[in-house]
Amino acid sequence: MKIGIVAIQGDYGAHAKALDRIGVEHAYVRRPDDLAGVTGVILPGGESTTHLKVMTEEGLFDALKQFAAKDGAFFGTCAGAILLAREVHRPAQASLGLLDISILRNGYGRQLASDVHSGTSKLAKEPLEMVFIRAPIIESVGAGVDVLAEDAGHPVLVQQGRVLASTFHPELTQDTTVHEYFLKMANGRT
Ligand code: GLN
Repeated sequence: MKIGIVAIQGDYGAHAKALDRIGVEHAYVRRPDDLAGVTGVILPGGESTTHLKVMTEEGLFDALKQFAAKDGAFFGTCAGAILLAREVHRPAQASLGLLDISILRNGYGRQLASDVHSGTSKLAKEPLEMVFIRAPIIESVGAGVDVLAEDAGHPVLVQQGRVLASTFHPELTQDTTVHEYFLKMANGRT
């Protein structure tokens, strides 16, 4: 199995390292052709507006929608979750709309921008280390969305079918639980 990592901007290198730790083949995705032979795509953290601009210019925005229509799996972290959402606020912006959530950008404000929490999830008995960096807040989830972890009363890890998203950054910790879950999902095993 090969995983594509969208490598326009942001912390895509950290996702590559996380996949290296579990021994999974990966390729950087910058253009539609880079999706060839890929089972799942990671949309990393960074600046969602920049991602959106470059993805649109390169034809990747439409290519990712086609990839989803062909049953491709997705994992978005932070800015990646914003790109996957059905609805984006503050400000409203375009998105792939592959995940039935509404999301508020920079939801914790500028002062309380970054924080590390520890929280339980449905993925493992051990708590997850949750690194939040200018994170969005998931305001609401549709009926088809499974909330896998919450923090301070908000969903922070959600799944709908073959789409997984976190508002925190598992790729910035040594714990590979969330990436392993994504691989199982991409493989059709969860
Ligand atoms: N604040 C960024 C955005 O709105 C996301 C931050 C992140 O990915 N760490 O796109």
